[in-house]
Amino acid sequence: MSSKIPKIALIIAIIILIICFILLLVMPKMVSKPKEEEVVSKYSTKATDTLKELDIYTEINNKDYSKTIEVLLEDNNFKTKYLNDYFNIDYQDIDNFSKTINSLLDKDYNSQEINYIIKNFQEQIDILLTMKHINILEFKDITNFNIDNLSRYINYYNDNDYDLKSVVTYVNIGLDLDGYSKYETYTLEEAKDITILVNKYHKLPDNYEPDDLVSLEYNANYKLRKEAAEAFKELTEVAKLDNVIFYPFSPYRSFATQNVLYNRYKQMDGEKVADTYSARPGFSEHQLGLAVDVRSSTLNDNLTEEDYNWMLNNSYKYGFIIRYPKGKQFITQYIEEPWHIRYLGVELATKVHDSGLTYDEYYDLYMEER
Ligand SMILES: [Zn+2]
Repeated sequence: MSSKIPKIALIIAIIILIICFILLLVMPKMVSKPKEEEVVSKYSTKATDTLKELDIYTEINNKDYSKTIEVLLEDNNFKTKYLNDYFNIDYQDIDNFSKTINSLLDKDYNSQEINYIIKNFQEQIDILLTMKHINILEFKDITNFNIDNLSRYINYYNDNDYDLKSVVTYVNIGLDLDGYSKYETYTLEEAKDITILVNKYHKLPDNYEPDDLVSLEYNANYKLRKEAAEAFKELTEVAKLDNVIFYPFSPYRSFATQNVLYNRYKQMDGEKVADTYSARPGFSEHQLGLAVDVRSSTLNDNLTEEDYNWMLNNSYKYGFIIRYPKGKQFITQYIEEPWHIRYLGVELATKVHDSGLTYDEYYDLYMEER
């Protein structure tokens, strides 16, 4: 009796062990096999096939769907090395999308830059692709950026050592082109504006003559527009209180006068040199009746250093700026002319003075309509 019971128990135990063993072998197959078949590809058949060929199907399919990646795969333009970039590039419905982003990636543009480029510079991508990489995101914060000038910005940037912000302003002024090579001519109506910018890129009409010229007290032949003449009188009187005395020697000049003057200088020094200190007819602020050259003594057409410093620190309070300051020749395109002051009205002259900019720069940054 006593030996029968353990024998049965042993047999039962063996049977249970065998069943367990069989279950262990079969169960995983029953559970996992159908599960694998349930996974649905997020990508089109063609894209999926390519991913499988590249052996990255599971990796990609487990991540969020990317239209960009799908299009690249379908276009046969997918490059594994750019995988992470692709995920961060937003798909845009443009011609040759996949080719374009590969070309930009080849040029070292990152995904953030590419999103910005495709959104904002779609028409200019071909231009960008001919140039070396630029920090294009910097354009985002540049208020005077003008898309029509993009290729000029990039060329000027590549040829010079300025930051993009300066490049935008300088190109807008026209500094990437030779003075007089391309200019805008104002209408007679526009020429009357007290704040008008006149330089080698902005010309006055040949027949423009202000209709409110008045004589200066100093000499009846010396004229300025009424508002400027009154301000100049005030400036002279205030200066006297500080023992600063100066005399006008060249105020309003007509187109014809400027023509004679410029040609005389040109004959004397040659065109290249003359252009550094004398404006060609139509391009002179003197034709506006808003500019006047002053001197400290009738023996010399200039201001003493002392008088110049006074002028620099005070003239704006009466509406005048030093138009061609020291160290700015590459912007104004004229040598330093301490003696040449330009009337803009007190408010604007104060702003220009406080900005520390030349009027050419100030005008582009704050006055140009965009
Ligand atoms: Zn002058």
